[in-house]
Amino acid sequence: MRVVICGGGVIGACTAYFLTRGGVEVTVVEQTGVACAASGRSGAFLARDWNAGTPLDALTRRSFELHARLPDEVDADWAFHGVTAYAGYVPAGRAAPGHGPITLDWLSDAVVVTGRLGTPEDTAVIHPARFTEAVLGAARRRGAQLRHGRVTGVVRDGSRATGAEVDGAPVPADAVVVAMGPWTARAAAWLPLPGVVPDRGHSLVFDTGTAVPPDALFLEYQEETGAVLTPEVFPRADGTTYVTAFSERAPLPADPAEVTPDPVAISRLEALCARLSPAFDRNRILVRQACHRPVTQDGLPLIGRVPGVDGAYVATGHSVWGMLEAPATGEALAELIIAGHARSTDLTPFDPARLRPLGEVR
Ligand SMILES: Cc1cc2nc3c(=O)[nH]c(=O)nc-3n(C[C@H](O)[C@H](O)[C@H](O)COP(=O)(O)OP(=O)(O)OC[C@H]3O[C@@H](n4cnc5c(N)ncnc54)[C@H](O)[C@@H]3O)c2cc1C
Repeated sequence: MRVVICGGGVIGACTAYFLTRGGVEVTVVEQTGVACAASGRSGAFLARDWNAGTPLDALTRRSFELHARLPDEVDADWAFHGVTAYAGYVPAGRAAPGHGPITLDWLSDAVVVTGRLGTPEDTAVIHPARFTEAVLGAARRRGAQLRHGRVTGVVRDGSRATGAEVDGAPVPADAVVVAMGPWTARAAAWLPLPGVVPDRGHSLVFDTGTAVPPDALFLEYQEETGAVLTPEVFPRADGTTYVTAFSERAPLPADPAEVTPDPVAISRLEALCARLSPAFDRNRILVRQACHRPVTQDGLPLIGRVPGVDGAYVATGHSVWGMLEAPATGEALAELIIAGHARSTDLTPFDPARLRPLGEVR
């Protein structure tokens, strides 16, 4: 069986990994670079229980389990490490020193830490690009091909997908997986797919060395203007710390290489970071960046068969949890493609047929 995966983000990489474990011949087509978009620029915070009571619960739990297991299966280091997660807030002006039930010495006294949200057993941080590259690397060692090119269509024979069109030329396959993140919206011109919209987030990566312990933070931060932002701070095992704080709808460039950060958003983020901790000195900023999350109409991912087109599958729309949910998504989708049903995770809540397709099929 031959499968073409459109998109070399974390979802495409994990799907390739599990398909090759099932003996499938895989070609991953990536237009710009593996992990060049959100899958290389995200916070990559993982939490086992935070989707409890929602349709994402089983997918999330299975994926967290796979994340904990993958370092033993794949010979590469993506800095998987357990963290303690805390909640807190930063009022406008300064909080009194020692204010709040928990004191973290590395934070400035502007930050009030109010409680613990997770322990190193159930919350973790990984390096997103290294994870995506490692998993795709493992798939390639099992024979998957990585092809540089732009998917420009899906080749069809009646109601059956028989391959992908890459830069205008057909690449034959028994099945096609569309995993183009927010660019999946473009594939709605080729297949009856529901809409996916881009949600842009900015982030900074600091060289913090040993100054920041494995403490992840989820804060409410009040600016002098009264606006409330929600900073998230994720220390990585490689001595860097990732900070993001707000998101907005913004136009999606045709090529991920053209996604550039807005200088105003970056200055706002730098000012916020400077208030959180002396470890977030401007001189220690390694990366200033932006990326787009793929978001569906009902907030749940699209994972499964494209209705009405045999052999066509989609996997996208994971919004803020794509790094977390990628392994279980890839595993279940591979089962669906190979065996006709997903055994490890019930994909019913994510069936693309639940939402109306965006436009007419060409
Ligand atoms: C600021 C921010 C912070 C985040 N933090 C977290 C977090 O802490 N935890 C978490 O779990 N998730 C987090 N996420 C979400 C996560 O990053 C995404 O859900 C996930 O990366 C989406 O992966 P993807 O493979 O679907 O898409 P992408 O990473 O966007 O990959 C899609 C790929 O498809 C390629 N492509 C597009 N069109 C074509 C084409 N026509 N032909 C060939 N290739 C094409 C692109 O070049 C790209 O490489 C965050 C996201 C953002 C933006």
